[in-house]
Amino acid sequence: MSLKIWLDGQLVDRADAKISVYDHGLLYGDGVFEGIRVYAGKVFEGPAHLRRLYDSAKAIRLEIPIPPEKMMAAIEQTYKANNFTECYIRAVVTRGVGDFGINPRNSKAPSVFIISDLINVYPKEIYEKGIPVITASYIRNHPSAQSPRIKSLNYLNNVLAKIEANDAGVPEAIMLNHAGNVAECTADNIFIVRGTQVQTPTTCDGILEGVTRKVIMELCAKNKIDCIEKTLQRHDLYIADEMFVTGTGAEVMPVTKVDGRVIGSGEPGTLTKKLIELFHKHVRG
Ligand code: PMP
Repeated sequence: MSLKIWLDGQLVDRADAKISVYDHGLLYGDGVFEGIRVYAGKVFEGPAHLRRLYDSAKAIRLEIPIPPEKMMAAIEQTYKANNFTECYIRAVVTRGVGDFGINPRNSKAPSVFIISDLINVYPKEIYEKGIPVITASYIRNHPSAQSPRIKSLNYLNNVLAKIEANDAGVPEAIMLNHAGNVAECTADNIFIVRGTQVQTPTTCDGILEGVTRKVIMELCAKNKIDCIEKTLQRHDLYIADEMFVTGTGAEVMPVTKVDGRVIGSGEPGTLTKKLIELFHKHVRG
């Protein structure tokens, strides 16, 4: 059976799920998106993802043609049509078909599409060993340019940072912000542990406010683990006792080396392992 994709109100076969080469999402990266997981047949943190999608759209003056309830119904319709109970969802809203000018006024109607598919996750051993990362020379967007809090179709800085990671032979890169402070990875948020305290950059440090990040902070609160949002410098990474990154795709991934500096003992730390366990229990019951 061919994978079904939701495209502007209809479920179509993957081979027929096409958008115009005049779409401003493609020509100018003019659009927003969400990456969402389905666990045990249910959308994980649906309201938080929808909120971020509609907030991102509002920030770029893009009116999503359907209300959040309809978007959620469309998401559910899509993965159910493909008989998935565990999958990744990509919901995308583009400015739609326009002309060669950047003016969004010339785009008649935004386009919405929803893909549900299996996700390539890191192998289990990697979660047990942790990953080495580097800090990238590319920074997150300056907040006076396009806010990094918008999940837009403009990921070029992050793509370039990922290429730096590829060149360095590591799976991820940490991006700093315009002030030189730690922001996040190319598609994940970052946490460190210092003593018994979990620390993560604040929402004003050039990050996307990750849904997984929020869940981790809630799990810390529930389990009486001290967790704070704090501006971090690269030096804080180098001297951290533990480190992990969080994201919809990666979930919670330990980091054991940064720019050649071994983190803690060089193995995933105690609090990191505890949070991985709590997260798994939380999503899979
Ligand atoms: N930062 C960036 C830049 C991302 O693209 C993502 C993935 N959406 C994240 C952080 C993690 O966010 P979430 O936990 O919502 O997937």
